[in-house]
Amino acid sequence: MPLWSFDNSLARALGDFCVPWQAATPREPRLVLFNDALAARLGLPGRVAGEDALAGWLSGRDPVPGSEPVALAYAGHQFGHFNPQLGDGRALLLGEVLAPDGLRFDLQFKGSGATPFSRSADGKSTLAAALREYLISEAMAALRVPSTRSLAVVATGEGIWRETPHPAAVLTRVAASHLRIGSFEWAAAHKGRDAVAQLADYALERHYPERMHQANRPLALLDAVAEAQARLVARWMALGFVHGVMNTDNVTISGETIDYGPCAFLDGYSDRQVFSSIDHHGRYAFGQQPVVCRWNLYKLASALIEAIAEVDQADSEAARLLLEQWPARYEAHWLREMRAKLGLVEARDGDLELAQELFTRLEGQQADFTRLFRALAVSLSDGYGALEGELSDRGVLVEWHARWYARLADEGGDPAERAARMDAENPLYIPRNHLTDAALTEAEAGDLAPFLALLDAVTHPFEPREGLDRYTHGAPQGSPRHVTYCGT
Ligand code: AMP
Ligand code: MG
Repeated sequence: MPLWSFDNSLARALGDFCVPWQAATPREPRLVLFNDALAARLGLPGRVAGEDALAGWLSGRDPVPGSEPVALAYAGHQFGHFNPQLGDGRALLLGEVLAPDGLRFDLQFKGSGATPFSRSADGKSTLAAALREYLISEAMAALRVPSTRSLAVVATGEGIWRETPHPAAVLTRVAASHLRIGSFEWAAAHKGRDAVAQLADYALERHYPERMHQANRPLALLDAVAEAQARLVARWMALGFVHGVMNTDNVTISGETIDYGPCAFLDGYSDRQVFSSIDHHGRYAFGQQPVVCRWNLYKLASALIEAIAEVDQADSEAARLLLEQWPARYEAHWLREMRAKLGLVEARDGDLELAQELFTRLEGQQADFTRLFRALAVSLSDGYGALEGELSDRGVLVEWHARWYARLADEGGDPAERAARMDAENPLYIPRNHLTDAALTEAEAGDLAPFLALLDAVTHPFEPREGLDRYTHGAPQGSPRHVTYCGT
């Protein structure tokens, strides 16, 4: 049986950035979910270790051999306002594990009790919030979105108060690292230029080692993160994913999606769609995500700029230029995603306008984002009628569809093959809001079966399977607006 093999490079290299800490003792830990495939991929002990042993380790009851738990300090811009002192208030980094292939991953608890960064809050998490993060992060991974993963959920046997009492749990999260833009903002605000440069070196070596030889390493890091985030947000946009709380403390240096609090997938498409109960002005609305991503990258640049200039004064201009030109970089990723969704193999002039025009036409149609792209593939054989049921104004895409069809015909190729290629890009099963909510309500009441069925569907998102039809339906007519909450 594999053992835990920790190698805690961050605590070793950057002791100033973290505080040694211990998880709270759970009352009566019980393993609710365990991700065997992920454990195997990481070379960690699996279910054969025994459910009680896993529940003990992954709840804070028993120390995980070799772990050196720390709470990380970080800062961040929350809804545009700088908070110099955030940090792991309900999370605890157990350490880093080296997988059999040599890749390094953070193991982190979420909901394991108060830390020095908790302010007045309890550092706990509800079972529903832990299950929600598990479900959505695993769905994202299956959708080929860079994402933190979920290894386990352990119910602690405790009740916690969130307006009403709820069962509590600890989620074990796996990430390429937990470094975020806010880590650099914290270093710049509290430790100064040399600490920022040291952190940049650490991050570059860990996430972008191929760039370590570049003359200006803080600039190389800015460039690498700008690229990774452009790619990531383009992928979100291609899947109708709304992160919901793109504060700089929730933007990773690795380019993985992190913090599945108020996130949700679009039902009806609208660029202005917001789910989060606290996003009153639509700062993090669906269509704002690329804009906000760039805003966040400016904050990373601000934190790095002195370290960049220290290497070479002239490189400040390179940093400025890189961000000025970022929209073109993002657009190239978005166009690549859209070509794949629309079945276009060749890159032709006019493709960008074709893709943009689709969304312009869809605004106000309440068209289900996910279903519409599957319907487009069906329309290759069945004609425009395949789309009509998805649109409130049935004829709204007639002209667009003809242009798209002509563009495809011009490229040639077998329509059935093209439809299959599109179906491998456009998911059928996503964690739809009404399904997720219903499954979590039942899980909290003690019945995990609906949650497990949904998890199974959304972790195999592309291939149609017998008996799963109801997972492809949009929100029931007349459902109230779906609302999500942070920090539950
Ligand atoms: P988040 O919305 O998860 O990105 O959290 C923002 C900040 O609030 C982070 O510093 C969290 O650690 C902290 N935080 C959120 N929920 C809790 C909680 N229940 N207890 C303590 N700190 C929390
Ligand atoms: Mg966060």
